[in-house]
Amino acid sequence: MGDERELLRRTAELAADFVESLDERSVWPRATVDELRDALGGPLPDDASAPLDVVESLARAADPGIVGMQSGRYFGFVIGGSLPAALAADWLAATWDQNAGLVVGGPAAAVVEEVVGDWLKELLRLPRTASFALVTGCQMAHTTCLAAARHDVLSRSGWNVEHDGLTGAPPIRVLAGAKRHATIDRSLRLLGLGAGRTVEIPADDQGRMRVDALRAALGESSGPAGSAPTIICAQVGEVNTGSVDPMSEIVELAGEADAWLHVDGAFGLWAAASPALRDLVAGVEHADSWATDAHKWLNVPYDCGIAFVANPESHRAAMAVQAEYLVQDRHAARDQMDWTPEFSRRARGFAVYAALRSLGRAGVAELVESSCARAKEFADAIARLPECEVLNEVVLNQVLFRLSDDATTGEVLAAVQAEGEAWMSGTRWDDRAAIRLSVSNWRTSPADVGRTVASFERALNARSAASGYAT
Ligand SMILES: *Cc1c(COP(=O)(O)O)cnc(C)c1O
Repeated sequence: MGDERELLRRTAELAADFVESLDERSVWPRATVDELRDALGGPLPDDASAPLDVVESLARAADPGIVGMQSGRYFGFVIGGSLPAALAADWLAATWDQNAGLVVGGPAAAVVEEVVGDWLKELLRLPRTASFALVTGCQMAHTTCLAAARHDVLSRSGWNVEHDGLTGAPPIRVLAGAKRHATIDRSLRLLGLGAGRTVEIPADDQGRMRVDALRAALGESSGPAGSAPTIICAQVGEVNTGSVDPMSEIVELAGEADAWLHVDGAFGLWAAASPALRDLVAGVEHADSWATDAHKWLNVPYDCGIAFVANPESHRAAMAVQAEYLVQDRHAARDQMDWTPEFSRRARGFAVYAALRSLGRAGVAELVESSCARAKEFADAIARLPECEVLNEVVLNQVLFRLSDDATTGEVLAAVQAEGEAWMSGTRWDDRAAIRLSVSNWRTSPADVGRTVASFERALNARSAASGYAT
C-alpha cells in the first residue's frame, strides 16, 4: 500500500516538474532518434524491476525526446495543450481504469459522457436533439459521421448497407472541397466509398469551397433521376488559413440536392462557442453531421474527438452493436459502444467534463478569442519583419506566411525550429513553401508571441549578417 502511494506521489512530482519546466525547456526535443533508441532500448528484461525505478528511469530517458506540445510556444499543426483540470481528471480516468463501452463498465463514465454531450451541443450551438460520440479524434469522428451518412443516403434508396454491404449498392457520390483535410479521404476509404471517386470542388484563394463550383457540380452529376445518394463534405477551419466554407449557401444547396451535409470542424467549429466569432460559422448548425476535436481547442490531453449527428436513428443504425430487440431500460445511461466505432474504450468523458467545468461557457469563449487575438498579434508583428509576407486573412487562430522565396522560407524556418524557442511547421500554399502557425493552447500569452517573433528576428539577422559577410 505504502509503496503504491509513494509511486503515485513521486509520479505526480515528475509531472509537476515537467509542467514547471515549460517556460524554459526547448520546445523541440534535444535528443536524436538514435540517442533515444540507445537510452530506451536494449533487450527485453528477464526480471522484474521496482515500479518506482521503472517510472523514474522512463521519465529520465524519455525527457530529451519529449516535444514541448504543452508549451505556449508550440504552434505546430493544430495541437492544443492540456488544461490543468483536464490533465488531472485524465489521471483519474487512468486510475479508475473503467471500460467505458457499456454502462455496466462504469456508470459514472457513461453519465459523464451524457452530460458532456449535452453541454457540447449547447456550447457549439448544435441541435439539442443531435446524437454524439466521443472518439479518438476528428478522423474517427468523420468515420462515425460518414458511416451514418452512408446508412442514411442508401436507406433512402431502399438499401441496407449494414446488412448487405456495398456490393451491388447504388453508387454514392461524394463532393468535397479541394482543401479538405486528408482525414476525409481516409474515412471515405475506410467506409468503402473510395477516396478517388470524390468530386473535388475548387477552392478560392483562402481555401474556401466555391459555391458556384459546388452548384455546377451538383447539377452535372445528379444523374437522370436527379436523386443519386449524395454526401457533401464541407469544412469550417482550413488547416493552413483557418478559413471557413460559406456554410449558409452550402446548406441551401445541400437541401436542394437532398444531400447529407457533413462538416469537418476539427477546430473551426469552436468559433460557435464565441459570441464574437460565431457569425463566421453561421449556418453550420443546419448540417447533418459534424466532426470536431476536444484535444485541439478545448485543451484536453490526447486523445479525444467528437462526432455529432443530427439524426440519431442514422447514427445508431450505423454504429450499434446491440440488436434493437434488446430494449434498453430507459432509466439506464446510454451504452457508449452503440454510438462509437470502438468496443472497449477509455473513459474520455472525464477530461472533457473537467475542461468544460473549469472554463465554463465564458472561459471557452475566452480561450477561443484569446487564441485568435494572439494569432493576429503574431501576424501583425511578422508582417513588419523584412521579407515576410502574411498570406491569409487571419480570421481564426491560424497564420500562414512566407519569405521572399522557398529557400529562404525553408532556411529561416529551420533556424527557428532548431533554436528551440518555438516550433511551428512548414507547409505548401499555392505551390510555394510557407510557414504555418496555429495558436490553440490556453497557455499561449502575448509574451510567448513576442518570444517567437524575436526568434524569427534572430534568424533573419543571422542570415543578413552571413550574406553581408559573403559580399
Ligand atoms: C486535425 C484535423 C483533422 C484530424 O483530426 P485528428 O484529431 O488528428 O484525427 C481533421 N480536420 C482538420 C481541419 C484538422 O485540423
